[in-house]
Amino acid sequence: MNFDESEEHTMLREAVSTLASKYGHDYILNKARSNQRATELWDDLGRHGYLGVNVAEEYGGGGMGISELAIVLEELCAEGCPLMLMVVSPAICATLIGLFGSRTQKDQWLPGFATGEVKMAFAITEPDAGSNSHRITTTATRDGDEYRISGAKYYISGVDEADALLLIARTSVSPDSGRARLSMFIVPTDAAGLTWDQISVEIVAAERQYTVFFDDVVIPAGNLVGDENKGLQQVFAGLNPERIMIAAMANGIARYAINKATSYANSRQVWDVPIGAHQGLAHPLAKAKIECDLARLMTQKAAWLYDNNREAGEAANMAKFAAAEACLACLDQSVQIHGGNGFATEYGLADLWGLARLLRTAPVSREMVLNYVAEHSLGLPKSY
Ligand SMILES: Cc1cc2nc3c(=O)[nH]c(=O)nc-3n(C[C@H](O)[C@H](O)[C@H](O)COP(=O)(O)OP(=O)(O)OC[C@H]3O[C@@H](n4cnc5c(N)ncnc54)[C@H](O)[C@@H]3O)c2cc1C
Repeated sequence: MNFDESEEHTMLREAVSTLASKYGHDYILNKARSNQRATELWDDLGRHGYLGVNVAEEYGGGGMGISELAIVLEELCAEGCPLMLMVVSPAICATLIGLFGSRTQKDQWLPGFATGEVKMAFAITEPDAGSNSHRITTTATRDGDEYRISGAKYYISGVDEADALLLIARTSVSPDSGRARLSMFIVPTDAAGLTWDQISVEIVAAERQYTVFFDDVVIPAGNLVGDENKGLQQVFAGLNPERIMIAAMANGIARYAINKATSYANSRQVWDVPIGAHQGLAHPLAKAKIECDLARLMTQKAAWLYDNNREAGEAANMAKFAAAEACLACLDQSVQIHGGNGFATEYGLADLWGLARLLRTAPVSREMVLNYVAEHSLGLPKSY
């Protein structure tokens, strides 16, 4: 077993970190607060090939994997620049199209994913289905050479800036179980009948959230990705990259918070020693640092398993769980160490709370991860 990071990975880490540090947390904060997009940062990352590290070389990508894409996102977040669209577009959508897309779909979309010129949103969640994808009611009905789509999705990140949506819709119902059979479709965001409304959320981020309505949206039958009615099994292939990327985001935010905490704790002095000397502050930070490092190890393991075509579900779930919890612990203790300044905008900590807290809930909730581990790792009966 070798825990040395490869030279290639270290160089990627350093290069992304250098690029992101030119933007910094204030850049994201200003974009978020003024309802703007992080276009300059996204384009800069794209120009350097960092958004397409996981896209196959034949399509202009880096020919690497989720391990490298996770490094890119972790380093961005460690510099205070979280980008939710990195999870959705290159990690989920590019992965699924790369795995299940037709030759035509790959030729059309993958070169754009490789450069970051294409952004794709991912739409599975529905108001009445939630964590239970079998209850999805957004329906795609085959009509000759086309599909007609009706229904609604909610909490769809970044659809306003996306070229297309990767949509999970119902195409039939299993006669045995009564459960929805699902399929995956590429839906251009300029399709007639497709509209969206912004959902106001208490998350300070450069991407916004939307309810998306499909009012008899017509798409060519060629926009079906993979096999009809096999959508759920196919989507599962994109969920492990999603979980690994969320873990990487959490790990990066945790490192950002720890760095701020240590710098403040070493310099701030209110008695005769820097506040970092008080164990009441140092020990919770040390504990959070341990949790962060453990989460990073599990994230790297999950990414390695995924990239080496091994079963990665357990590790990806565990990494996502551990990283989300560690991130919250690190951010909370960093705010505590900053005293009143922990709440000041200029210290760039409290505004991250909504995003960090989200990572415990989405894209898969803490409880659903625990369900997975209880059932699959421990062999306990399913409760639902
Ligand atoms: C900011 C943001 C961005 C998002 N971006 C996207 C996106 O781009 N695309 C997309 O498709 N979705 C997106 N989502 C949706 C997100 O993935 C869901 O919110 C998440 O999966 C939880 O589903 P839900 O909100 O319907 O909660 P529900 O499924 O209603 O769950 C509610 C609560 O019940 C618990 N629960 C449910 N079932 C069980 C059970 N069997 N056992 C124990 N507890 C249970 C859950 O853990 C949770 O705590 C986003 C959400 C947010 C808030």
